[in-house]
Amino acid sequence: MGGIASLLQPLTDFIFPPTCLHCRAVLEEDDRHLCRSCWKCIPLVSRSHSLYVQTRTRLLDSAVVDDFVSVFVFEKEGTFQTLAHALKYEGFQSAGRMIGGVLGEQMNEWGIGADAIVPVPLHRAKHRERGFNQAESIARGISDRTGWPVVTGVLERTRPTQTQTKLDAVERQKNVEGAFAVRKKMHGLGGKTCIIVDDVITTGATIVSCAHALRSAGASTIIASSAALAEYNP
Ligand SMILES: [Zn+2]
Repeated sequence: MGGIASLLQPLTDFIFPPTCLHCRAVLEEDDRHLCRSCWKCIPLVSRSHSLYVQTRTRLLDSAVVDDFVSVFVFEKEGTFQTLAHALKYEGFQSAGRMIGGVLGEQMNEWGIGADAIVPVPLHRAKHRERGFNQAESIARGISDRTGWPVVTGVLERTRPTQTQTKLDAVERQKNVEGAFAVRKKMHGLGGKTCIIVDDVITTGATIVSCAHALRSAGASTIIASSAALAEYNP
């Protein structure tokens, strides 16, 4: 959508009732962003899901990640992609919080415990440009369900990194290696169990790079988490 259509969108939203972001069906009163049938179409991650098992093994092989939680399977053109896109590019932060709520439920069900939730930070220039960090919206949703505090401003992205979609696994690792650091003073994460949160995990390179930074700041246990899990197809 572009030009006039996009300019008229707010007016259209005002005149017509809210519709499902994915299939455009009119939403029932209690529904937010997606209709019930679209929600049900998003495949879920279980502990025995092959993509989950594969990704968890890769993350644990890094020796800095102790466990991994995720809840949705990311499919190209799928419902989760619509939701993630609305969050990232259209600023639907409440969609992020909603997704985070489901992830928080998954953590409760899997018996995960933590002292702090740390969203993967954006570089400050990117944060300024977008106005918010989508991983932080998801982290807030997790906190709603678990009560664990969201810790921001401690882990930082020290240099801008390029978007990973066109990079292979080795390039992704190089792209984010050493790109994160923990601000030295008063981080308060020493000896703590930290959950790092991202929207989507593919190779896990970003979250592993964050885990290295938190580990060197003294975090005792690091749990990687993402709202969704995408298959890596080089
Ligand atoms: Zn729908």
